[in-house]
Amino acid sequence: MGVVIIGGGQAGLQVADSLRSGGYEEPIAVISEEHGLPYQRPPLSKDYLTPGADPVPLPLRGETFFTEKNIDLRQGTTALAVDRSARTVALDDGTELTYDHLVFATGARNRRLSCTGADLDGVFGLKTLVDAQRLHRELAAAQDVVVVGAGFIGLEFAAAARAHGCGVTVLEFAAQPMGRAVSEETGAWFTSAHAELGVRLRLGEGIEHFESDERGRVRAAVSTIGSRYPADLVVVGIGVVANDALAAAAELKTENGIVVDASLRTSDPAVLAVGDCANFPNVHSGTRTRLESVQNATDQGKHAARTILGETTDYTHLPWFWSTQGSFRLQIAGLSSKDDWTVATGDPGAGKFSVLSFRGGQLAAVESVNSPADHMSARKLLGGGLGPTPDEAAAPGFSLKSYARQAASKPSGG
Ligand SMILES: Cc1cc2nc3c(=O)[nH]c(=O)nc-3n(C[C@H](O)[C@H](O)[C@H](O)COP(=O)(O)OP(=O)(O)OC[C@H]3O[C@@H](n4cnc5c(N)ncnc54)[C@H](O)[C@@H]3O)c2cc1C
Repeated sequence: MGVVIIGGGQAGLQVADSLRSGGYEEPIAVISEEHGLPYQRPPLSKDYLTPGADPVPLPLRGETFFTEKNIDLRQGTTALAVDRSARTVALDDGTELTYDHLVFATGARNRRLSCTGADLDGVFGLKTLVDAQRLHRELAAAQDVVVVGAGFIGLEFAAAARAHGCGVTVLEFAAQPMGRAVSEETGAWFTSAHAELGVRLRLGEGIEHFESDERGRVRAAVSTIGSRYPADLVVVGIGVVANDALAAAAELKTENGIVVDASLRTSDPAVLAVGDCANFPNVHSGTRTRLESVQNATDQGKHAARTILGETTDYTHLPWFWSTQGSFRLQIAGLSSKDDWTVATGDPGAGKFSVLSFRGGQLAAVESVNSPADHMSARKLLGGGLGPTPDEAAAPGFSLKSYARQAASKPSGG
């Protein structure tokens, strides 16, 4: 019995770690279908792809962690089925594990294109270490790169491909890059910044099909407006879908992920879900959401462990994210939405600024470009429910850092 965790990524390992540090003494098994020690994903689309990089994985926990903490890590093993009435998990090596608590930490998989040529040689996604190592090799030989999707992963890859000297075209169906995640101001700044890097960002243009050469390798991408872009390497970054099929097969409620309550329990109280696969009630957006970030995976992992240990608090952590695109560093605290009122501070012309989003007069999110101090201030302000009014933020000379320092020094309750 004990706890079985399906998925050995950021969230799954955090659950195991936090259970042990919280005093849990029963058996813990982590089922990890990928081979090798679980590793960090953020460098896969950044540091690993820079010219001359050595794409060696950064483990999430050292090798000795698992023996020292008595955590049974089953590498290269897939969980195939869950029987909730018997409380068992069937694995692809023929074994069956029993549990008191089961945690789904199965993450998400890349959405795939279905257009003609999407399965040609030279068309790749980027999710795993194996993908990153392959792309690292491919970039060294590539000349013409097409990226489908101007989200975080697509733009990170585009910047890396430019650093390799490749010609890079990014096709994005929407009118702005990173449209699901950032304000128009920040999107516009990144559009110009990538143009200066030499990335051809084609907005309002999706992929129609790919052309093949005589060896079955991609040769060109044809867009929805009929433009043809030469391509010997294509990366598709069009978002992810939650790995929730196993949970659905076990008759747990799923809808854009595994549906959990504020304590991260599924419709079966013995079963929890965390990280990219979990659809949870988010106090910051006021809606159900599924977040794809290291912060969310880590904080939900910690929270789920506390739930298993008997705590009954709600998950309310402030979401924050980052993306590094060449030398551009974007950090986001909170969640913005399209109807928010925005105020820009700092100096966008000098490439160092923040965009503050307000909802109902309250600070809801801050996007910081090359301004880590603003980001840290934003996390403090948003985490404490503090924050300037839109008028204060719009005043000449406003500094988020100074405002946060003053807010921290004010006596509370007064
Ligand atoms: C290239 C890349 C760059 C990123 N960069 C950033 C960044 O800069 N900042 C940021 O905040 N976030 C970033 N992210 C997102 C972040 O890595 C994820 O949000 C985080 O890893 C989610 O953790 P998780 O444990 O929920 O899922 P994962 O880390 O994806 O782990 C889930 C694991 O479960 C395994 N699994 C699934 N089903 C089964 C099964 N049936 N049996 C056994 N194992 C199974 C999967 O193979 C996977 O290994 C990036 C992601 C990628 C892919």
